[in-house]
Amino acid sequence: MENLKKYISEINDFPKEGIDFKDINPIYNKPAIWKQLMLPLQKLILTTKPDYIAGIEARGFITASVLAFKNEIGFIPIRKPKKLPGKIIGINYQLEYGQDRLEIQKDLFKKNSKIIIMDDLLATGGTSAAAGELIKAAGGKLIGFGFLVELTKLNGRDKLDKKLYIESVIKY
Ligand code: AMP
Repeated sequence: MENLKKYISEINDFPKEGIDFKDINPIYNKPAIWKQLMLPLQKLILTTKPDYIAGIEARGFITASVLAFKNEIGFIPIRKPKKLPGKIIGINYQLEYGQDRLEIQKDLFKKNSKIIIMDDLLATGGTSAAAGELIKAAGGKLIGFGFLVELTKLNGRDKLDKKLYIESVIKY
């Protein structure tokens, strides 16, 4: 997958100083390249056979929803605060500076449904670890995580349960 790195651009100091933002968008408009990038995650879905694929807002929705549609599996949106109507379960989590929050709607799936979480990128792991706790708090059986990109120097994997499936396609 090293050959795909040339399609990912890096924007320094975006969205704030000190972050080297990995922009995957140049891949999404090249179907043959996008397919290559998605194949390991498609394999993960075929191996783990989840009942649902959850995506983390917003860029995680792209990966999660295309895999859900392709495999005829339900999609669950994990969203930023105050976006979802009805009864909500939420989780607050710590960022480098300050706090953030993720939410899902209650009663979206049967208790103990097997759920896998997708996001575009694993950095410090705070976001996906919180998403995992949220799925469990809502009664789901969390079985793993999939990412298109992992920034290995930030050790995000250490925040995730090692017993679960954790797949990342391109590692920096
Ligand atoms: P973290 O909680 O630190 O693992 O951050 C993961 C979330 O932030 C993902 O949803 C990414 O979309 C976004 N993110 C963090 N760092 C970067 C980066 N360097 N480039 C692109 N997206 C990033």
